[in-house]
Amino acid sequence: MFEYAPAPESRDVVDIKPSYGLFINGEFVPGSSSFKTVNPANEEVLAEVAVASSDDVDRAVQAARKAFGVWSSMPGAERAKYLFRIARIIQERARELAVLESLDNGKPIRESRDVDVPLVAAHFFYYAGWADKLAYAGFGDRPLGVAGQVIPWNFPLLMLAWKIAPALACGNTVVLKPAETTPLTALLFAEICQQADLPPGVVNIVTGAGETGAAVVAHPDVNKVAFTGSTEVGRIIARTVAGTSKKLTLELGGKAANIVFEDAAIDQAVEGIVNGIFFNQGHVCCAGSRLLVQESVQDQLLDSLRRRLSTLRLGDPLDKNTDIGAINSADQLARIRQLSDLGEQEGASRWSPACELPEKGFWFPPTIFTGVAQSHSIAREEIFGPVLSVLTFRTPAEAVEKANNTPYGLSAGVWTEKGSRILWMADRLRAGVVWANTFNRFDPTSPFGGYKESGYGREGGLAGLEAYLDV
Ligand code: NAD
Repeated sequence: MFEYAPAPESRDVVDIKPSYGLFINGEFVPGSSSFKTVNPANEEVLAEVAVASSDDVDRAVQAARKAFGVWSSMPGAERAKYLFRIARIIQERARELAVLESLDNGKPIRESRDVDVPLVAAHFFYYAGWADKLAYAGFGDRPLGVAGQVIPWNFPLLMLAWKIAPALACGNTVVLKPAETTPLTALLFAEICQQADLPPGVVNIVTGAGETGAAVVAHPDVNKVAFTGSTEVGRIIARTVAGTSKKLTLELGGKAANIVFEDAAIDQAVEGIVNGIFFNQGHVCCAGSRLLVQESVQDQLLDSLRRRLSTLRLGDPLDKNTDIGAINSADQLARIRQLSDLGEQEGASRWSPACELPEKGFWFPPTIFTGVAQSHSIAREEIFGPVLSVLTFRTPAEAVEKANNTPYGLSAGVWTEKGSRILWMADRLRAGVVWANTFNRFDPTSPFGGYKESGYGREGGLAGLEAYLDV
């Protein structure tokens, strides 16, 4: 049979410069020092990127403050034109953005091309549509001022879009800090802002590590802080912001339960489990990292799941056939290894399909743990990698009890053919998102965010506007 094997996406579609400055007041300017960003699939240096010192952050905040006057007093319909223009340029430059995202992050090109970049454009289109309808939505029209935004490395462009699009639509200006392992697409986005003739200072991008993020958060002239990242850093940020007049939203970690009932369409559930935990190498805050399967179908489901995992292709993120790309960094790989080893030491059984890992780069095979108890570390801690912990239940009440037995509360999935059971479960699951017969579905019109230690505030949808307005 003819097998379709498209060539790898070409790295040449994107012009990666040897070095990048900070984007402040509409221009790229040098920083005081620099760091290297590497391709996690082969450890090659992609570029040298500037580190923003606290003085650089101050310059960026001042530029944003100055631009706030112009931007916030512009009619919403005018702001919308800029956002629509940005959305269209993102579509025009989609291939470049997708290739750069896969190079810097390690995610398969199929995902950056078909999920990340289209969703990024969709967010800008969606919030562009709100810019002149804020009063109609009952929000009035009072932006907060300068938004300081700090984002993680797992969806570098998409997290940028979740933060920047609603902030700008509401009339705020922005200083955004991307993660230190994935700064490049944010800098390409800065170029897109120039191309869209966005007034200088409306968007500023300051690169660097945690110290740069801390300087953004602590800056006295920042009015709103939006953070996505680990619960640990979220706590530090909450302490910094406490006692100031800054508004804060936090999108933190998760340990979601993907719950499969015996009456579910098993083949469909298997696809949902794979998508739930192996999409983006499991570097997903809402990943379905705990599979709760009803005891009566455990063997059948695990057989199908193992067969399906054996068909997954791990390798070059730019290859259009790749399902599992590289782990984003050596540090993250070490954490995944450490927690997986602990899983074995604590008594769970580990299984991975036979798969050859490339010699260079950071790689981890898709992995399933069975015989997992609720007390095991792999059932409690966020692994943020392609590792699934399987637990079982007998009754719906037991499924709810186990699903909620976590400090997190970001998402959950329910697989059943019974509509009434979906509603019964959704009412009881303490999670910001409950998917029914699907998983990891995102849409700009839906609010997203957590309960408990997964954070507070919502991004996306109408609720996402609230975070950037005084109501
Ligand atoms: P992280 O918390 O280490 O870093 C996130 C960002 O914060 C980075 O840009 C980092 O440089 C910066 N930072 C680090 N220390 C800081 C400090 N003291 N002050 C200010 N900024 C600081 O997280 P990570 O490793 O990049 O991302 C993984 C985590 O993010 C996971 O726990 C995941 O669940 C979470 N996450 C959550 C969501 C969500 O929407 N809830 C989405 C994606 C990722």
